Amino acid sequence: MAVKRDYYEVLGVSRNATQEEIKKAYRKLARKYHPDICKKPECEEKFKEINEAYQVLSDPEKRKLYDQYGHAAFEGSPPSSEQFAGRGGFPSLEEILSEVFGGNIFERIFEEAAFGGRRRRGRRAARPQKGEDVQHRVVLSLEDAFKGTVITVPITRRVRCPSCGGRGATNEKTCPACAGAGRVVFQPNPFMVVEETCPTCRGSGVIAEPCPECGGEGFVYKQEEVKVRIPPGVDTGTKLKVEGKGHEGRFGGPPGDLYIITEVKPHPIFERRGDNLYVDVNLTFPEAVLGTEVEVPTPEGETVKVKVPPGVRENDTLRVEGRGMPRLRGKGRGDLVLRFHLDVPSFNWLDKLSGRQRRVRELLEELQKELPKPERVRRRKTS
Ligand SMILES: [Zn+2]
Ligand SMILES: [Zn+2]
Repeated sequence: MAVKRDYYEVLGVSRNATQEEIKKAYRKLARKYHPDICKKPECEEKFKEINEAYQVLSDPEKRKLYDQYGHAAFEGSPPSSEQFAGRGGFPSLEEILSEVFGGNIFERIFEEAAFGGRRRRGRRAARPQKGEDVQHRVVLSLEDAFKGTVITVPITRRVRCPSCGGRGATNEKTCPACAGAGRVVFQPNPFMVVEETCPTCRGSGVIAEPCPECGGEGFVYKQEEVKVRIPPGVDTGTKLKVEGKGHEGRFGGPPGDLYIITEVKPHPIFERRGDNLYVDVNLTFPEAVLGTEVEVPTPEGETVKVKVPPGVRENDTLRVEGRGMPRLRGKGRGDLVLRFHLDVPSFNWLDKLSGRQRRVRELLEELQKELPKPERVRRRKTS
């Protein structure tokens, strides 16, 4: 057996250190060497040693004995392995956290989960809390927004830990140090018997370890594929609710919801304005003057023939009712709106006129003489 190091030396404190200094030193070392934190095998040994030293020096009774008799005071019953049977002979991290660090969020959850209120510490019972909502953006084509679609979205949600069922604790068993009694009898030497609250289970008679899968939280974050039906008519900024697919609730509360926020990509032909779709249509000058019939695409991939009346001006619109986007709420569809533009022949074209086209040009020049002069400068609408 290896020679035992002096307990004060192990914790790096002087022989007349105060209880507070001992606690501080232990906390610092435990944070560094606890097997839940440090995975190196030498850390485990080191932690055992630190722990043993702390168990003795933190207890004024035992410390006095140690100061008097040294390691011989505990011969045959090493103080740490007897008291901390929970995790291979030493306390689990949460025991250190709650005992030495003065409690933290983990402790609260751990206690409620593992001990079901068996601990009487005056803590309030946790109220059920609804889980948080999860948001996810999806980008859709106008065609998908028109028809509706089913998409699969990958989301990360907090779910109940499958390993411990959300309790955060595992290996709950009758405390082996006190056999469930909550108190231990400690015999430091043949002349002395000390009875105290069992330090392993802190008097509850039950020990547990934090679930290794969720670290005692009771929850894990899981990547999940959720199928979402996108109804026809969604637009950029539409929020779709998928009930119950948000984060798991706490303390028995219901889960939050998943919100899908859609974004519809701009389309090369259709400009969306609410449920209406605008399509830009070019007309030649004679078409604009005389009227015509045009064929324009519709969002379902078909075409529709539209009669254009004579006398169309730039930016005039013509509405084809019920051929726009489906209405997300309510029945029917918006309109398809044709917006006209005059396609004037290029200067280049005028330079290379054939005989017949030259005749057309002369007619245009004659027409120009016949037309009434327009008001040259347009007045703006000011009201
Ligand atoms: Zn778990
Ligand atoms: Zn116990």
